[in-house]
Order: sequence, then C-alpha cells, then structure tokens
Amino acid sequence: MTFKELKLNPSILKALNEEKYIKPTPIQAKAIPFVLKREDVLGCAQTGTGKTAAFAIPILQLMQQDKKSKSSNKITALVLTPTRELAIQIEESFSTYGKYTDVQNTVIFGGVNQERQVRALRKGVDVLIATPGRLLDLIGQGFINLSDIKYFVLDEADRMLDMGFIHDIKKVLKLLPKKRQSLFFSATMPKNIVSLSKQILINPKSVTV
Ligand code: AMP
Repeated sequence: MTFKELKLNPSILKALNEEKYIKPTPIQAKAIPFVLKREDVLGCAQTGTGKTAAFAIPILQLMQQDKKSKSSNKITALVLTPTRELAIQIEESFSTYGKYTDVQNTVIFGGVNQERQVRALRKGVDVLIATPGRLLDLIGQGFINLSDIKYFVLDEADRMLDMGFIHDIKKVLKLLPKKRQSLFFSATMPKNIVSLSKQILINPKSVTV
C-alpha cells in the first residue's frame, strides 16, 4: 500500500512526498484507515514505529474535510503526551505533514514561562499538543476551552501512568465533549491501561505492531 492509495488530500500527499514518505509503516497501514472511518482506535506501538504519523496524518485529513463546511479557530484536536520532548516532536510532525493545509498547531508544556504559549493560543489554534499539567493550568486560567474537541489522542498512555498523570488525565477527560473520536496509544497493555482505555474509547478497533 502507498499513501496515495489512502486517498489523502493532495496538500497532505505533497508534504509526505517531500518527506520521502512513500509507504505507510505497519502501524500506519493498520490505523489510518480506521481513523479515516471515524472509529476509535486502541493502538499498541512503541516510539520509532511511525506512531505519530499514524494519528497525525488522518486527523489532518479529517480536519481538512471538516473545514470545507466550517472554518473555525477553535481547538478541535487535542493530543496529550507525557513529556515536553514528545510534545515538541508531535507538534513538528503536525506542522510538517500539514504544511500545505491551513490547520494551525501549537504546543504547550510545563517548566517554561507561559507567555509565549498563551500568545500562540490567542492567535487561534486547531490542533493543541500538550502535557497534562500545563494544559490544566492554562484551562484553569481561562486560556483554553476544550468544549469543541472532536479528536482526542492519548499518546504513550503507559508512560503517562508511570509518571503519575492519572488524576490529570481524568480531569481532562471530564472537560471533553462526549461526542468525539478518541485514539489511545500505549507501548504496553497492562490491566490498568486496558481499564483506562475503556473509560476513553467507544467500540475501539485494536491495532498492534
Ligand atoms: P515515531 O514512531 O512517530 O516517533 O516515528 C519514527 C520516525 O519514522 C520519525 O523520524 C518519522 O519521521 C519516520 N517515519 C514515520 N512514518 C514514516 C513513513 N511512512 N516513511 C518513512 N519514514 C517515516
């Protein structure tokens, strides 16, 4: 299979071509068609497998489709990830694959002054990539509203729990609309992860590599 055969928007294909992405990796080949069909996905995959593009590419595609009918500057997609490094990498991926689209991304994480992040949010953002603590902090200050989220990604769920983010995740979940598409990725699937996934996903398609 090639990316072309996934019937992606030409603006996304052009960016993938420039990156010399021709064939989807196994996790991408399995996950992307489900995401495009607006299914929830439970993905078991490690970093290095192409996991980021497995959710970023189809979310950009769906957002392009949505934009045809309605253009907005509300946060429509939220990606939660445990560390600043991962958050930055994911934002770079969205920016690279979406560079010929009009989708706006930004990244927020703790440990740095919030001013730049707040300025970026004020300009209007479609995709927000965040670590949990800073996200809740900026929500508390009224800079972020999650009520328009249509796409939610929980990345590296096992690492999130190892780092003690369970309560933060649950707080974020309470703020998300019930009607949404959720994608859940974890390198391992112990009991507590399966249990968390059940609180987030509805009839998920399981994808393992
Ligand atoms: P990830 O697992 O998301 O951290 O991605 C691992 C690396 O693989 C990144 O450097 C990506 O740029 C690269 N990559 C992801 N998907 C593809 C693909 N389909 N073809 C070539 N490289 C890829």
